Amino acid sequence: MSSLFDVTIIGAGPIGLYTAFYSGLRALKTKVIDAEPDVGGKIRYFYPDKKIHDVGGIAETTGYELVQNFKQQAETFEPEFVLGKRIVSLAKQPDETFLMQTEDGEHHYSKTVIIACGSGTYEVNPLVATNADLHHAKTHYHLRDLEQFRGKKVVISGGGDAAIDAAFTLQPIAKSVDLIYRGENFKGYEKRAADLLLSNIHVHLQHEITSLNEGSELETVTICAKPSGKEETLACEALFISHGVEVDFSFTKNWGLQTADWGIQVNSFMQTNIPGVYACGDAASYSRKIRIISAGLHEGAIAVNSAKQYLDPGAANEAMVSTHHEHFTN
Ligand SMILES: Cc1cc2nc3c(=O)[nH]c(=O)nc-3n(C[C@H](O)[C@H](O)[C@H](O)COP(=O)(O)OP(=O)(O)OC[C@H]3O[C@@H](n4cnc5c(N)ncnc54)[C@H](O)[C@@H]3O)c2cc1C
Repeated sequence: MSSLFDVTIIGAGPIGLYTAFYSGLRALKTKVIDAEPDVGGKIRYFYPDKKIHDVGGIAETTGYELVQNFKQQAETFEPEFVLGKRIVSLAKQPDETFLMQTEDGEHHYSKTVIIACGSGTYEVNPLVATNADLHHAKTHYHLRDLEQFRGKKVVISGGGDAAIDAAFTLQPIAKSVDLIYRGENFKGYEKRAADLLLSNIHVHLQHEITSLNEGSELETVTICAKPSGKEETLACEALFISHGVEVDFSFTKNWGLQTADWGIQVNSFMQTNIPGVYACGDAASYSRKIRIISAGLHEGAIAVNSAKQYLDPGAANEAMVSTHHEHFTN
């Protein structure tokens, strides 16, 4: 039997990582499990090269740098990391500890569980267009290596934040950027969407990509105007597709958790309806919830403090600030 941990955090996104750090600060034996092969959650998956400006105290960073810092901080108290393992079941055992099972049948045991699983596990929706299968190598779903776009004529398809972020990120390095969206108005942040129309990104609203050229080299895409059916051919050497993702959050219901508003219902202790199980970050739901990194960090610390007192009702409400912790003073 694998050993029993005080706290197991499901999800190694930014909030799971910070929660692991804070859990170590409270001297809890901590394990972190993630379905992905590496840590970083949505940042790693969707926007490692994007510039980020709204994390408290960090005026500007990239997704990649931010993940490296979260990772380094999370490693401070040496939690156990289990990566590439999707948790499919969570159940309280007769002795009040929790058993978590991975998709491939591993068992993990813990006295408390903190769910930092974001929006669940995800898979991108593929481009559906004639000849799309000929150009997999030039069709990108993640901005993981900007060099692949340098000096190229880039076509982006999508209308949400990820597509708009990609357009602004790629515009300074690409030869040209065309942004195709089937809707009448963008779904992304209003200000960013307005800025698009003032930029030199070529915006094609109410259009969609219907085909790519034949042959082995990607050279053109054909787009079709939605109301009129009028077709236009655009030069294209690299495609970035942001048609959303299929997220699987259904497991939370199978685990007996109450859900609300795209997340797991928690109270101000980040406590779910199951005693000993907490949620934080994008996975947690409560009144006035904000799904950004800065907001989730606070929730992670609260969840740990609640777990600590669940295990030891006499424990302090919160950790002392890190400067006074023996790990940093010695
Ligand atoms: C395109 C885009 C741009 C954004 N830009 C910003 C920004 O500029 N600033 C900002 O503050 N926020 C931004 N956000 C939001 C920010 O990314 C999220 O608030 C943040 O990632 C939430 O962190 P998290 O750790 O709670 O969840 P996530 O980052 O979603 O991580 C959850 C992790 O849990 C894992 N997981 C899920 N289910 C399981 C399971 N069953 N078993 C094991 N592992 C599991 C996943 O694999 C994932 O790694 C953006 C989001 C998107 C999509």
